[in-house]
Amino acid sequence: MSVPVILGYHAVSDRWRSPLAVSRSGLSEQLQFFRRRGYTGLTLAAAESLRRAGALPRKSLVITFDDGFASVLLALPLLERHGWPATVFVVTDFASSGRPLEWHGLDGHHAPENERIPLTWDQLRGLYEREWEVGSHTASHPLLTRLPHARALHEMAHSRHIIADEIGRCTTLAYPFGVADDDVAAIARSAGYDAACTLRGTQRHDQPMMRPRSRLDSTHRGFRLQVGASSLNRRLRSSRAAQIASTARGRRGWFPRDGAY
Ligand SMILES: [Zn+2]
Repeated sequence: MSVPVILGYHAVSDRWRSPLAVSRSGLSEQLQFFRRRGYTGLTLAAAESLRRAGALPRKSLVITFDDGFASVLLALPLLERHGWPATVFVVTDFASSGRPLEWHGLDGHHAPENERIPLTWDQLRGLYEREWEVGSHTASHPLLTRLPHARALHEMAHSRHIIADEIGRCTTLAYPFGVADDDVAAIARSAGYDAACTLRGTQRHDQPMMRPRSRLDSTHRGFRLQVGASSLNRRLRSSRAAQIASTARGRRGWFPRDGAY
């Protein structure tokens, strides 16, 4: 059974050098890389429903952006060149207030304030009209595994309702910091999501509420991109989906090290 390659990005910037930012030229090279290898771009929601129907293309690519950085708009023309959509996971408190993105862990990435401007609801509606998907990244970007049940449920249910009100629908989620456990995944399901993504260096599961992603940034170019992708492809071919993430670890791997995203 084929599984989609799910890429996890954050900001798009030619100036901000950080694992959270991919440059336009880096992103462009990465997209062309997958295009040349015959991949088809899908939103996460589309990939999930095709997967449930057993109709997923053999090579499908889901491009996701966490946090809702306004700079994600720079990715739109690069993706449209290939006719591919993306899924953007927004932190609803910031989309509503317009305050620069800010939470524990993000400060360590030294983002200038103009790089932390959030996408507005109007901009998100514009992306949705261009076939993008708007998913949730919770209301305030907490570490869900440390929250009491009621607060975790509120973070996920409230943000889903806000997005559904503003955009029209919201069926997918990305866990803040890429982290969830079985309890959080169960709460996400009860909050009404069909699928949710992690972003961790290691993961044993590949289930709808625990979809593993691969993180790319500006340093994944040329040889490094080829090495990462060939090891990813080997894993996709040779192992059951559940083993993909658990076998990937280490600094040179395609998957992220644990960290605050
Ligand atoms: Zn995040």
